[in-house]
Amino acid sequence: MAKTNGSKNLISTAVIIIVLLVVVLVGRAEFSKPYELCKIVEGPGVTKTGYLSDYFDGLKGTPGDTKLYFLEGEEPGGTLLVFGGLHPNEPAGLLAAVVLIENTQVDVGRVIVIPHTNASAFTYTEPMQASPPFFEIETEWGSRTFRYGSRLTSPLHQYPDPQAYVHPSGMLLSGGEVRNLNRVFPGRPDGLLTEQIAWGLMELIWQEDVDMVIDIHEARPINPVVNCIMAHPDIIDIASFAIMDLGADYGVPIRLEPSPERLRGITHREIGDHSDALAVILESPNPAMDALRGPTNADLVVYGQDEFFKRASEAGLIRVPYFEGDREGFPIDRRVGRHTTTVMVLTRTYNEFHFDKPIEFHGVPTKDDIIENGLGHYFLRP
Ligand SMILES: [Zn+2]
Repeated sequence: MAKTNGSKNLISTAVIIIVLLVVVLVGRAEFSKPYELCKIVEGPGVTKTGYLSDYFDGLKGTPGDTKLYFLEGEEPGGTLLVFGGLHPNEPAGLLAAVVLIENTQVDVGRVIVIPHTNASAFTYTEPMQASPPFFEIETEWGSRTFRYGSRLTSPLHQYPDPQAYVHPSGMLLSGGEVRNLNRVFPGRPDGLLTEQIAWGLMELIWQEDVDMVIDIHEARPINPVVNCIMAHPDIIDIASFAIMDLGADYGVPIRLEPSPERLRGITHREIGDHSDALAVILESPNPAMDALRGPTNADLVVYGQDEFFKRASEAGLIRVPYFEGDREGFPIDRRVGRHTTTVMVLTRTYNEFHFDKPIEFHGVPTKDDIIENGLGHYFLRP
C-alpha cells in the first residue's frame, strides 16, 4: 500500500515538473520572440536604407536600433529628416512616415524617414489602457496591418525606472518619463536605452548635416496643443508662412505653438538648440489616447468616432472640430493627410528661405488626395 502511494506521488511530481517545464519553455520562447514591426515597402524613391546604429554604435543589437529610409534626388541640396512613431500610440505619425517612404520621389536634396523612431515602444501596449495591439487599413488589394504601441520604451528593455528623472538641464520629471523619448533629448551616449536612442538621432542629425527635422505626433483631442505646429524659435518664420498656406490653399487649419523655453528634453527644442537643424513637432487629434474615450478598439484608432467626443464637441469642451463637413469623428485618413500636407508645405516654405540648399520632391498626397482616394490607396503591397 505504502509502495503504491510512493509511486503515485512520484508520477504526480514528474507530471507537475513536465507541465512546469513546458510552461516555462513555451513562455520563454514567446517572450524572447523578436517583435516584428509592420512591414514597409521601399517605394520607387527609396535609394538606400540604413540603421540608427550606423551613426551610434551603442545601439547595435539593442531594441533601440531602427531602420532608416533614404530618398535622394539627382541634384544635391538640403536634407529633411522625418520622425514617425516616436510615440507609437500616436499612429498617424507612423502612417504618414510610411506614406512618405512608399510614395515620395525626391528631385533635389534628400529626405530621410524613420517610421519606427522608438522601435522598443512598438513592442507592447500600455497597461490599463485597453489599447488594441494592431489595427488594419483597407487597401485596394487587401488590408495592411500596423502595430499600435506605447508612449514609452518597453520596461522589458529599460528597467527599473528611478523615483524621479533629472534631465541634464536640471528639469525634474516623474521617474517613468526616463522612458519617454520626447523628454530625454539630446540624450546621453552612456545613458539609459531611451537616452541612447535620442543620442543616436542627434548623431544622425550631426553626421548627415540635416537642415530640417519634422517630428510627427498625435495628441489627446481635449489637449489644447493639438492640430498645431510646435516650432523652435529658429523656424517660427517658416512655420508662420506655412500655416497661412495650409489654411488658405489646402484646407488644413492649423495653429502655431511656440516652443516653451523651459520645457526641456523635447525633440524640436533640443534639436534646434544643439544642431543647425530647424525643428518642429506636428500634432493631430487621436481619440484612442484620450481619457474621455469610450470603448477602445481598432475601430476607434481608424475611424475616430466616439459618442463622448461628440457630446464634448457639442458642449464646446474640445478645440478641434468633431465634424468636418458631414464626416464625423477624427478618422485616420484626415489625420495622416494633415501631416503629409504639412510636411509638403513646410518644405516648400523652407525652400523660399533657403534657396542655397533646397529640398524638392513630388508624389506626396495631400489631405484632399487621401480623403478622395482613401489612405490605403497610398500603401504599396508588401
Ligand atoms: Zn507624442
